[in-house]
Amino acid sequence: MSSNAPRIAIVGVAGRMGRNLVAAVEQDAQAQLAAGIVTPGSSLKGADIGELAGLGRLGIPAADSLASVADEFDVLIDFTMPRATLDNLAFCAEHGKRVVIGTTGLSDDELAELDGYRDRVPFVFAPNMSVGVNLTLRLLETAARALGDEGYDIEVIEAHHRHKVDAPSGTALRMGEVVAGVLGRSLKEHGVFERVGQCGPRSASEIGFATLRAGDIVGEHTVLFATEGERIEITHKASSRMTFAKGAVRAARWVSERPAGRYDMQDVLGLTEQGG
Ligand code: NAP
Repeated sequence: MSSNAPRIAIVGVAGRMGRNLVAAVEQDAQAQLAAGIVTPGSSLKGADIGELAGLGRLGIPAADSLASVADEFDVLIDFTMPRATLDNLAFCAEHGKRVVIGTTGLSDDELAELDGYRDRVPFVFAPNMSVGVNLTLRLLETAARALGDEGYDIEVIEAHHRHKVDAPSGTALRMGEVVAGVLGRSLKEHGVFERVGQCGPRSASEIGFATLRAGDIVGEHTVLFATEGERIEITHKASSRMTFAKGAVRAARWVSERPAGRYDMQDVLGLTEQGG
């Protein structure tokens, strides 16, 4: 392990992403697994976080508060729930930590609250940490620029496992925002999130969203550009949560050397400066 490897704490270590994050940090020679946190009052407090992740004993007992491990970590990785994430961000701002946030489903008020930390703490916030999805966002910019105003209808279709609590997925919304941004539209005005009954034909400028929830689907997203005579589908399929976890660890290493600011995975992957 390199001597300047950032010490990483993972919140929500008993969750689906938490367990994958423990494995991803363990596999990364340039990151050091320092602490794991479970929900306050959880019966899993004190459990070995390696055993929770199915990796065998690592000798790191789960804490149930950030305060109790405040001296042990440099970067927090948080894939939990919006309210918990915002409380953790406040703690990290006060204690000079860095943060990687994968939590989705934040309301407009919660997003504004999160944004308020951009001058106080270095943090990466992205609804999808996979390299492939972030490359897909760039491909969507190119497609939208070429096709969007030429009579192509745009629809975003996503599928996830039966346990997912927010819809449409943060990634689907991000994909829609990217396309809308290129075309000078906004999802508030042009996003269509429900069609039922006699809803009439689609308008040319709307961007439709469709959501599937079933079984153990890790995450699939398609953006469809369709016109008379042809359609283009840009699809990303995740087959393992490790793709998100590895991206998050990469983001943690990257943000450990950055000044205060709000960053996303496009920054981490160096995709921000490229043309579309
Ligand atoms: P999950 O299995 O339900 O895990 C969430 C975990 O957060 C649970 O272990 C929960 O603990 C814990 N938690 C909630 N409040 C907490 C608190 N105050 N302190 C500590 N831990 C707390 O959900 P998941 O599938 O891992 O997904 C978590 C989030 O990540 C979701 O928003 C999901 O959409 C997002 N996600 C993002 C990406 C990305 O690439 N950005 C990828 C996948 C998922 P309890 O069980 O004790 O409540």
